[in-house]
Amino acid sequence: MNKNFFNKILESAIQAGAKPFLVNQSGEEYSYNDLLEITARFAENLRLLGVQPGDRVAAQIHKSQQGFFLYLATLRAGAIFVPLNTAYKAREIEYFLSDSKPAVIFCSEASANDNQKAIEAHVKFGSAIFDEAGHCALLSTEVACESEAAPVERTSSDVAIIIYTSGTTGQPKGAMLTHDNLASNGQSLTDGWKFTSSDVLLHALPIFHAHGLFISTHCVLLSQSKMIFLEKFDANKVLEKLPESTVMMGVPTFYTRLLSTPGFDRDVTRSVRLFISGSAPLLEESSQQFLERTGHVILERYGMTESAIITSNPYDKERKIGSVGLPIKGVEVRVTAEDGSVATIGEVGGIEIKGPAVMKGYWNKPEKTAEEFTGDGWFKTGDLGRLDDEGYLYIVGRGKDLVISGGYNVYPKEVELVIDTVPGVKESAVIGVPHPDFGEAVVAVVVLDAPTEQISETVISFCKEDLASYKVPKAVKVVDELPRNAMGKVVKAQLRTDNAELFK
Ligand code: AMP
Repeated sequence: MNKNFFNKILESAIQAGAKPFLVNQSGEEYSYNDLLEITARFAENLRLLGVQPGDRVAAQIHKSQQGFFLYLATLRAGAIFVPLNTAYKAREIEYFLSDSKPAVIFCSEASANDNQKAIEAHVKFGSAIFDEAGHCALLSTEVACESEAAPVERTSSDVAIIIYTSGTTGQPKGAMLTHDNLASNGQSLTDGWKFTSSDVLLHALPIFHAHGLFISTHCVLLSQSKMIFLEKFDANKVLEKLPESTVMMGVPTFYTRLLSTPGFDRDVTRSVRLFISGSAPLLEESSQQFLERTGHVILERYGMTESAIITSNPYDKERKIGSVGLPIKGVEVRVTAEDGSVATIGEVGGIEIKGPAVMKGYWNKPEKTAEEFTGDGWFKTGDLGRLDDEGYLYIVGRGKDLVISGGYNVYPKEVELVIDTVPGVKESAVIGVPHPDFGEAVVAVVVLDAPTEQISETVISFCKEDLASYKVPKAVKVVDELPRNAMGKVVKAQLRTDNAELFK
């Protein structure tokens, strides 16, 4: 049987027919029938170009409905979609193209020029241009095709997408997600978050990342609902569209920005049934403020490129603020202590996962893939966490962020939570930097709400009050803002580099 995930989309779209699927920022509406017709045409044009099943189709394009239809058409054609962040520069693109060896890259004219050499060297059919308006001549050519035609035959373990990990640590790796990964995760989330055909999703995420590309959109497609597709996150635009929406998915920065936007209140969120947050930690304080302002408890979930969604707070049962919830249907989660044994309740250890959501492996990197799986087949997420007595997971930090000071392990999150309660502190990031005596010293980098006198002393005294002395920062640095990647994650590697000489 054909396991191409597009089959599920096809079934859903045929049933939904003339129902609206996507409305863009300018108010242009595309029905499910349009989706079928456009993706059939795009897929046929890919085939005519020479794209074969299993070939990679790279895309470094600005967000547009055509860009999203290109993703669906790539699945339909049985090829592998490789989304690339629009912020990547020539050196990075050269690496992604040499690693993925795509048949074609869709990009802007400027990017085609900037990356000409790499494209010539690594891309079989060269570039196809997406203009500013999201129009692509190659894809739009009129061709004979059947809008309800079945997608190209795929098995469940065939790769559908390769997404390069965002690389806040080390060199990016291409995570291979299969048709089965997409099918199982998509269905579990659609059911778990109770999507129905009357839902309207407010979509303001980029589509070069798992969250915006498929975690959010597959729920819409599988439930035959509609999405409002904004070009990017703009708090005022979101405020304008919220009254027409029933679900919003975002990264924590979306919610903190909304909280500081005048007019964001109960009234504007009255039609929304669910706010979901993920891709980076949501501060407990933001969650509390959100609850006070809107009456909504943001549903926090946890995922990663290598597996899409792993855990989610429940829709109907208690959503625990500070926790990322329970394993979603089909996913198993365990926490492993340093000695390899299963951690006891409340004990911090490495988070490991198993189940149909977990990727097939890293593209071209069998050794890296082998390193990231345990002997008994669990994927090591690299995150540290603990489970409570009801099975809810709490993330404590990235394994690589762990600071070892004087032989003691310090989990940055624990220190950050204390620092964030200091009056005047807006947010903080705790890192370890080389120290002649302790090996590593705990350093706090803080952003202030307003200039505050003697902030270092206050931060240190708050930490001394609440934390063991080895966890108390040896230095406090004030910065205007924390370095963040495109998904809003703090790039701690950069903070470590910036402060490497602090104790030398
Ligand atoms: P990415 O592959 O870019 O999606 O990044 C995945 C990483 O983001 C995970 O391994 C976590 O470290 C982090 N992450 C995702 N969701 C959450 C969350 N709700 N809370 C804390 N960290 C998160």
